[in-house]
Amino acid sequence: MTRRRNVDTGPVVHRTARIGLRLTRAQRQRCFGLLRSAGDVWACVLEINAWRRRRGDRPVASFYELCGLLSASGPGTFGELNTAGARSVLRRYSDAWFSAAARRKAGHSEVRYPRRRRTLMPVRWYHGTFALSGRQVRLPAARGCPPLLVRLDRTVPYPAGTVRSVTLVFDAGRLWLDVTAELPIASYRPGTARDQNRVAGVDLGIIHPYAAANPADGTALLVSGRAIRAEHRMHLADTKARRRGTARHAPGKGQKGSRRWRKMRRRARLIEARHHRRTRQALHEATTTLICWAVEQRIGTLTVGDPRDVLNKPAGRRHNLRLRQWQIGRTLQILQDKAALAGIQVHLVDERGTSSTCPNCHKRISKPRGRNMTCPHCTFAGHRDIAAAFTIATRTPGGAITPEALRCSGVVTHRRAGRHLPGAGPARRDPRRRPSRPSAPGSFGRRRPASPSVVGSRSLTLVNEDPQQRRDQPGGRSWTPH
Ligand SMILES: [Zn+2]
Repeated sequence: MTRRRNVDTGPVVHRTARIGLRLTRAQRQRCFGLLRSAGDVWACVLEINAWRRRRGDRPVASFYELCGLLSASGPGTFGELNTAGARSVLRRYSDAWFSAAARRKAGHSEVRYPRRRRTLMPVRWYHGTFALSGRQVRLPAARGCPPLLVRLDRTVPYPAGTVRSVTLVFDAGRLWLDVTAELPIASYRPGTARDQNRVAGVDLGIIHPYAAANPADGTALLVSGRAIRAEHRMHLADTKARRRGTARHAPGKGQKGSRRWRKMRRRARLIEARHHRRTRQALHEATTTLICWAVEQRIGTLTVGDPRDVLNKPAGRRHNLRLRQWQIGRTLQILQDKAALAGIQVHLVDERGTSSTCPNCHKRISKPRGRNMTCPHCTFAGHRDIAAAFTIATRTPGGAITPEALRCSGVVTHRRAGRHLPGAGPARRDPRRRPSRPSAPGSFGRRRPASPSVVGSRSLTLVNEDPQQRRDQPGGRSWTPH
């Protein structure tokens, strides 16, 4: 539901951060109590509508009608859950019901109305019902119960006063608080403002999640995602090995699993969740790197090659798996969110043929097998993904760049995503087989996600010579891996 806002406050976006909780045993139990009560609210609504359907009545789905039913049930029906918390569940039901109805009306008959009960249901409290000071959060409880005080495990990454709501959730075996803030779109000092006519092309990929190129001055950015891919591959190998090792303990049909089996399942779920957290963090870092680069270059428009058409074609067992792990929709979503906050426009364009077109003379050439593209028609030679990014930039709607004005030689900035992933050191053949050494004198200790402006290096190699393929330094790189 949209809230009425002042007209003069400028455009805003909503962003949510998931923050872990530091809880005592008693606080933990009260949190689960709230989530369970919310699950009861959900189950009640499902049940009421099931009765009504059997009687041939109209289902109750509008938020106001549901709130009426809630207040008719009287206080204390749902344990410690207060009215604001219970209403957030009703809002969730109402939204789900109406979106299902709209999609069914549009012809998607496979979409179903909410029907599944859940033991634990997320609870949201809106602005004014909770209190946030530092890492302390006071969550309201039903009348007669003391409010629930919880501690966050990190500070909220948004400025004070912007937080609009908090949501208590149980996900991946942990309790979290999702903190949603209303952030104004970035404003810049005069002279550093984005220029809508400064366009950069962005090529998405697996080995390089982002390759961006600014055709106006020929500068480019290359974000390496090899650490992310290694994480995916190692996770797959670990999962396979675990499955093979434990398959014989699996319970038969209709049998309850042994305690050992249940423990194993729990462990597998935790590992799975950790893998997802790691790759998501790395993807966010990679995107922040791209946006920081664009802000530095004062770019106002990013033209992104959308590869999703290509993805729907079957490409063989191995390549299909690679593409499935890529999470392209999520990558695009993160990119659009971060660009919106920075005040940068994003255009999605067809990327077909961009990796087999020379950015310099625009002739079609055979798709290079490696990372390098060399054009037989002109002198262009350079990194394949950056070349594709240059070509994508010319496809900007409205045609801000003419192919003649393209400059394909400038400084390439190299960055790495996922430096916090285990063992993502200079040689990352097998990240997990390295023994974790005690920190050497003068080292920073455990690897942590670093701020994107610090990680990586800037090479002075031009775009049209690949830094990894320098002839004068056999096997060497012109840039220093940290
Ligand atoms: Zn060429």
